[in-house]
Amino acid sequence: MRDLKSMSKEELGRCMAELGEPAFRAKQLFSWIHQKKVSDLEDMTNLPKSLREKLKEGSRITRLKQETVQISKLDGTRKYLFSLSDGNCIESVLMRYRYGNSVCISSQVGCGMGCRFCASTIDGLERNLSAGEMLDQIDRIQEETGERVSHVVVMGSGEPLDNYDNLLRFLQILSDPDGSNISQRNVTVSTCGIVPGILRLAEERLQITLALSLHAAEDETRKKLMPIAARYSIREVLDACSVYFEKTGRRVSYEYSLVSGVNDTEEEARRLIRLLRNRKGHVNLIPVNPVVERGWKESAPAAVLRFKNCLEKNGINVTIRREMGRDIDGACGQLRRRHRMQQGEIRRQGEASPCRTMTAEERNE
Ligand code: SF4
Repeated sequence: MRDLKSMSKEELGRCMAELGEPAFRAKQLFSWIHQKKVSDLEDMTNLPKSLREKLKEGSRITRLKQETVQISKLDGTRKYLFSLSDGNCIESVLMRYRYGNSVCISSQVGCGMGCRFCASTIDGLERNLSAGEMLDQIDRIQEETGERVSHVVVMGSGEPLDNYDNLLRFLQILSDPDGSNISQRNVTVSTCGIVPGILRLAEERLQITLALSLHAAEDETRKKLMPIAARYSIREVLDACSVYFEKTGRRVSYEYSLVSGVNDTEEEARRLIRLLRNRKGHVNLIPVNPVVERGWKESAPAAVLRFKNCLEKNGINVTIRREMGRDIDGACGQLRRRHRMQQGEIRRQGEASPCRTMTAEERNE
């Protein structure tokens, strides 16, 4: 069954042609779904009843169900748990900044990348999200709060470049003037460093910001934190980021989670300076959110400041990322994981049991 929410205007155009409808119906349908945020065909009053009936037969419009929302007492950050039509759950976060509301979305159910400091990956990758499931996280949050979302970061559970085609479709629909019309310049896609994916994305020449999870300045240290480092060296990943900058003119953001005693030493800061000195970019230092299952501890505030000052004195653009929602399972994957434990889907810490996933038959596909 096709998901109309995941289809671009051009794809809807082809669908209308197949159904013998005029081309302008595609734009009308796209606008109902992405501008007016309507998910029931019956409410699309300027579409002929005969078309609505035809569409109902073989299509659906993705709509997520909000399971819970946690609200931070510290900064008003709202963390959502949504359930999908197959019974899986994903997380999204709304953060309020002076420049507007930003939503961090998930791109996969779970994640297969295995970063050691991340709760999202503990039970592995369940499946990719469709473009519609990515878009609907934003739509449901706008509906729940009644507030416009102006910025989007694809930095929640999942590796977006591991779900490339759906990501691209999501980005195109999100920034379409007849849809949500969120400027690509307000969208950030974060990757753990899949080199072919970065190079492919560079060729799309989008205006989104690419954020690289760097987290170490030396391959051996990076391998301890991120298994992907065994596949691509830091040099290869940074060279791919340089290509991204050359093709798009967009400066890359380097994410650096500080883990106490692992990558927060002065020696590591000096290595990082040598690596980034002649590259266009910006370093975001993130005191890592402690994840009980992994046993990593965040760097002490003094160590974070020392690291930042060292970079700054050597001409590297750097900021310490303000931690949001620390009192509400702030790190990605923690809320979903706790929910699954409560549901009895995970029997013991670190031991995964089959997730409640409906069969295709149950989903009526
Ligand atoms: S940090 Fe990102 S890429 Fe790494 S395991 Fe977590 S969700 Fe996946």
